[in-house]
Amino acid sequence: MVPLVVPALAKKGIDLIVRRDDLVDPLLSGNKFYKLYWNLEEARARDLPSVASLGGPWSNHLHALAAAGYQQGIRTIGVIRGERPAELSATLRDAEALGMALCFISRDDYRQLTRQADMSPLQQWLEARYGRLLLIPEGGGNVAGARGAEAMAWAIEQQLGGDYQEVCVACGTGTTLAGVAAALPDGKRACGFSVLKGAGKLAADISRLYRCLQPRPRPMAWRLVSGFHGGGYAARLPAGLVDFQQRFEQEQGFLLDPVYTLKLFFAVLQLAQDGYWRRGTRLVVVHSGGLQGRRGFGQPFTELSGLLNKKPITV
Ligand SMILES: *Cc1c(COP(=O)(O)O)cnc(C)c1O
Repeated sequence: MVPLVVPALAKKGIDLIVRRDDLVDPLLSGNKFYKLYWNLEEARARDLPSVASLGGPWSNHLHALAAAGYQQGIRTIGVIRGERPAELSATLRDAEALGMALCFISRDDYRQLTRQADMSPLQQWLEARYGRLLLIPEGGGNVAGARGAEAMAWAIEQQLGGDYQEVCVACGTGTTLAGVAAALPDGKRACGFSVLKGAGKLAADISRLYRCLQPRPRPMAWRLVSGFHGGGYAARLPAGLVDFQQRFEQEQGFLLDPVYTLKLFFAVLQLAQDGYWRRGTRLVVVHSGGLQGRRGFGQPFTELSGLLNKKPITV
């Protein structure tokens, strides 16, 4: 945890602390570390030799799963919609180097296999090719993932001794937000910032996951802010966000990823400036990692090769 020095906000009596989950592991960074934890435990407990999941060409989730498999000796399978391109993205090249089997499914087959709400057709299709496996939904959005994210809230509460009001996180599937909100003590709140264009059923998904972990109703445990998506997952950022990122990284001395944490920090600083939080509020902002995804935007990131020779770290 490090303080974020923003003089304009200090004047407004807003105190910001960054939880640097981008530093938890050089390969398996950020919130994915927590979201995968209980999923991988389940695979071990059920004696399943492989773990599969879905994602796009720059998926932080698939990258993290490949890294976890590499570190823990679990076979991993990455399912990607569409034909295999002539040249893989840097993310998928890493995933292969980490031992992940890449399985490209044509868009038609993919649609057929994921038509039902449950994932059993896809599970059966994959098991026919790869044998018994655990299938984790896209983005790691399941109860096991949210349960893993609870640890982030416990750590924040313990480290700050309760001296904070709200925990801010970036939301894709909302799994991290649900887990953090469920594990915060009464009176503390998690605030999620959606990076998606249409928030759609995000709030419903968060509610469902939250209720699985925290059956006691606590109406103020979380809230969701949309309107800071900056174009969603699009691989081009609005100029305002590009400028913000450059200034922020120079001033604060750490990097952001363009899909999630850039929008999170932009939104938090903007809203704090506009008086969204009362004077005297102390906010924790979670840096949820994902820096490998910078490459999808042509931004530099430490390449994998230097990390692979290091001794694997077990989670
Ligand atoms: C995946 C990801 C998120 C979104 O997490 P959800 O649990 O899906 O909401 C946020 N930040 C980063 C850096 C990510 O890679």
